[in-house]
Amino acid sequence: MEQNDKLKLAARKIRESRFTLAFTGAGISVESGIPPFRGADGLWNRYDPKVLEISYFYDHGAECWNYIREIFYTHFADARPNRAHDALAQLEHAGLLQAVVTQNIDNLHQLAGSRNVVEFHGCSARLVCPECHTCYPAGDFDLSAIPPLCTHEGQILKPDFVFFGEGIPDKAWNQAFEYADNAEVCLIIGSGGEVYPASLVPQKAAERGAFVIEINTEESGFTNLSDLHIRGKAGEILPLLLKAIG
Ligand code: NAD
Repeated sequence: MEQNDKLKLAARKIRESRFTLAFTGAGISVESGIPPFRGADGLWNRYDPKVLEISYFYDHGAECWNYIREIFYTHFADARPNRAHDALAQLEHAGLLQAVVTQNIDNLHQLAGSRNVVEFHGCSARLVCPECHTCYPAGDFDLSAIPPLCTHEGQILKPDFVFFGEGIPDKAWNQAFEYADNAEVCLIIGSGGEVYPASLVPQKAAERGAFVIEINTEESGFTNLSDLHIRGKAGEILPLLLKAIG
């Protein structure tokens, strides 16, 4: 099918849908300057992923913070939403998108104006105390002095995103699967489909009969379960889709 016909079909499905879910991954933020973890430009070619392993963090928090600050609070601090994040926010405001379930921890959907966002893996914009669970806005801390400490417990704070070896927060899990159950259309944008259990969310939507539209520069682990694969950059395809919806 030609790209234009794919866009028309996707637009029609979204207009007809009573519940459209967008499931997003690292690829949607690449055009904002945030590299994915894997692949040639991936972060794990430059950093050792052990600094995000929960048991290593508990034993070597101060050391981990050197890398955590560099990756998440220095390099990515100036990242802004791109045209793909903006398009999803516009779709939601027009009543054509009911929810975003994101694997990303960069807060860019919220900055673009999306309101109903499930942070499946948490968010770097908050820091949490592992002891008393107090949550702080990361912006409250001057990260030129690390590690940041809990004002109650003196414990080293952890970014409020899911480390390797940690479970998915219950609330995000329940909400994401409820949306997957309800979805009539599921957009999968910029996700490789290799991260478990997040990959179960679009799988569940597909099993429940949602029409699945994948937007990705490549084929992915989700391409086989998709009804439509639209190849291209999210920041180019989503504005075209908005236009096709009219
Ligand atoms: P992934 O890194 O496994 O795959 C990224 C996918 O995006 C690939 O399939 C790639 O082909 C595609 N892609 C790259 N550029 C694109 C573009 N411009 N438009 C559309 N697609 C594009 O990503 P994942 O499946 O999200 O898994 C990575 C995990 O790492 C996630 O759990 C996520 O939490 C985390 N992560 C988050 C961020 C972030 O918050 N921005 C960044 C890196 C990794």
